[in-house]
Amino acid sequence: MSGDRRTPVTPVTPVIAASDLDRTLIYSGKAVKLGLPPGAKLKSTPLYEDLVCVEMYKDAPLSHVTRAALATITELNELGVLVPATTRTRAQYHRITLPGPPPQYAVTANGGFLLVDGVADAAWSARVATVLAETSHPFAEVDGYMHAVFKPEWTKKVRSAEDLFCYAVVEREKMPDGFVEEVTDWAREHGWRASLQGRKLYLVPNELRKGSAVAEVARRVGADTVLAAGDSLLDAEMLESATAAIRPAHGELHDVSWITPGLAITLSAGATGGEQIAQWLLDGARDVLDRDTPRTSA
Ligand SMILES: [Mg+2]
Repeated sequence: MSGDRRTPVTPVTPVIAASDLDRTLIYSGKAVKLGLPPGAKLKSTPLYEDLVCVEMYKDAPLSHVTRAALATITELNELGVLVPATTRTRAQYHRITLPGPPPQYAVTANGGFLLVDGVADAAWSARVATVLAETSHPFAEVDGYMHAVFKPEWTKKVRSAEDLFCYAVVEREKMPDGFVEEVTDWAREHGWRASLQGRKLYLVPNELRKGSAVAEVARRVGADTVLAAGDSLLDAEMLESATAAIRPAHGELHDVSWITPGLAITLSAGATGGEQIAQWLLDGARDVLDRDTPRTSA
């Protein structure tokens, strides 16, 4: 998906740091534990005291970062380089409070929306609608398929994400053998793709891509370096198309030992891995900004 050529480019920064959020930059209580030994109790580890809540849901803490990650994300936002790139809906994204000045650009609904100062860019939404209509079977057909094949015995709910894609919350251990493969094949035949992340099985149109929206942000701000971070199959193309990329040592990509040329992988899993990702993004952004800053001699 190419950008709208009529949108004027105002050079703002030579580098952007596009990062997936869940299980990459921010961590639910369950995801935090990905970095702990099996059976370890989070509350009895030093990590527990180190966590800071960045999202409340139904009056309870839902997502966290470590204190060090909080400081690093603050710096990324102060530099104006962080571009959150999430599969979350706009409402789910707005529940998160990242530290520092709010990012000017954010990608939500897996590339379905390009938020500019928190508001969906109409030109981008129109472009997405056109591309999806040309390349994949319609949302309503896939929504109907999911409601038909995801059985209540092992499905907690089937949800629409802003009428762009669907996901089901499932009990993985109760799903029939081969079900994910069956859904994956069906999706492929209809111009969609499947992604299993924790308890959620997503079906997403092939051309609904975070990387396309991130490329549009890079074009608008005049960035020629794109740093990217993500943990799931839905992030793979964003990582592949970036100048340099990192993924955590956990998650859907890690489980299949996924790599791409120049990919960095965190040393740790869980929230500590998230801390390493934030630092990697900051170090990479600073390298570019230092390179581009004219030096004066005394
Ligand atoms: Mg993720």
